[in-house]
Amino acid sequence: MFDNTGDSKTKLSELGEFGLIEHLTQFLDIKQTSTIKGIGDDAAVLKHEDEIVVTTDLLVEGVHFDLAFMPLKHLGYKSVMVNLSDVYAMNAKATQITVSIACSNRFTVEALEEIYAGIHHAASLYHVDVIGGDTTSAVKGITISITAVGTAPKEKIVYRSTAQPNDLMVVSGDLGGAFMGLKVLQREQEVFKVNPNNQPDLEPYTYIVERQLKPEARKDIPELLEKLGVLPTSMIDISDGLSSEILHLCKNSKVGATLYEEKLPLDQGVISACEEFELDSTTVVLNGGEDYELLFSIAQKDYDKIKGNPNLSVIGHFNEAKEGIHLITRDQLKIPMKARGWNSMTKEEK
Ligand code: ADP
Ligand code: MG
Repeated sequence: MFDNTGDSKTKLSELGEFGLIEHLTQFLDIKQTSTIKGIGDDAAVLKHEDEIVVTTDLLVEGVHFDLAFMPLKHLGYKSVMVNLSDVYAMNAKATQITVSIACSNRFTVEALEEIYAGIHHAASLYHVDVIGGDTTSAVKGITISITAVGTAPKEKIVYRSTAQPNDLMVVSGDLGGAFMGLKVLQREQEVFKVNPNNQPDLEPYTYIVERQLKPEARKDIPELLEKLGVLPTSMIDISDGLSSEILHLCKNSKVGATLYEEKLPLDQGVISACEEFELDSTTVVLNGGEDYELLFSIAQKDYDKIKGNPNLSVIGHFNEAKEGIHLITRDQLKIPMKARGWNSMTKEEK
């Protein structure tokens, strides 16, 4: 569906490694006062007053993304988002990233420019400096690894391991959109394979396709909670699907949980796509990944502060570990929850 290796073809070898790095990073600028030295030396130099959080994600073509329906600019943008999401899930502010790319000679300078346009756009919108990286060739495909650095005062950092029984379970935004967006894109690609002249009409699916191709990390949620005077007791970002993230929080905090099906936040676009694909929306929310919303626990005393906020939904509560982890369905059935989060390790080698 997309021409993803560039229209005019400038071979990477024409610029050479140094020329390429210089070319790709020429428009990046430094905005954070904590960046003492960015790109251009053997290492970047940072000075943070508070605790530092560091996180890395690796995105491999064919495993984490498919260039048949992922425009390169979006790929760059999303690579940054998945990392920033982890920083926000620690209740920290993201400040710097490094970007490492390995790609085969199938990719042109123009293709890498596209990826960098997405990275640059994400970095400036989210106020993070690109302070370094590495660029190298690969035998096959493209792999992008981003490392994000963030900072927060010690007492503000929120871990996965500190949820308490009776805490409320809260989620930001709505869930299931990214998975249903992927379903639509995969279906359109199948149609395209049969008839390349058939340009897909994605208009009715704008919201869910955007959730898949252009996720936004929830920078606003730690800021909102700070404003409301709420410090979550535990937090995690939803990259693999709600059920697997709930199980992570429970396991790390040594607690159980009760989740209510009727409380799950669904966008109308997700509901209609689920109907069209004949999928159960609850299953999609529990097992579909890549929503990059935040899941957290708060003390009951803080309920009034978040009540009615359009960005936040209370979807359940935590309980003693011995009570287990359950979903209460709309019919009041109590079902034990299992992790069905997407797992790249289960894919078999072709
Ligand atoms: P070294 O040989 O010390 O690893 P490089 O020649 O790989 O240095 O990189 C030179 C500078 O460019 C370093 O500051 C490095 O962090 C930066 N850099 C290299 N590749 C990238 C990239 N893809 N994105 C951003 N910065 C990069
Ligand atoms: Mg290097």
